[in-house]
Amino acid sequence: MGIPLLTPDGQRINYLKNFVQECFACLTIERDPTKQFCSKCGNNTLLKLTISINPDGTMTCYRKKGFKVKTKGFIYPLPMNKGGRKNEDLLLCEDQFLMGSRKYAKMRKEKYKDR
Ligand SMILES: [Zn+2]
Repeated sequence: MGIPLLTPDGQRINYLKNFVQECFACLTIERDPTKQFCSKCGNNTLLKLTISINPDGTMTCYRKKGFKVKTKGFIYPLPMNKGGRKNEDLLLCEDQFLMGSRKYAKMRKEKYKDR
């Protein structure tokens, strides 16, 4: 609309700085900072990324120069399942929130979130 954004002090806002999460496997940008897994590929490959939104609406991403993904910690042996009521197994994909004790913990968290 051509109307400039102003702060309560009356200063003009030229760009907005914000943080998003980017999947380094498929380069999908997630706006929700609480997500742990990529919505497109489902992997645990989200990293924090700084963006700025320019006055014309374009988004500029700021990545570290020469950024390289470290693979340390990605290859490890999986422990055996212990079973029982407490689900202390590793969280490997987002579907594990939909079953077992994590499902009830998530429902309980959302129930008290509304209050
Ligand atoms: Zn992805």
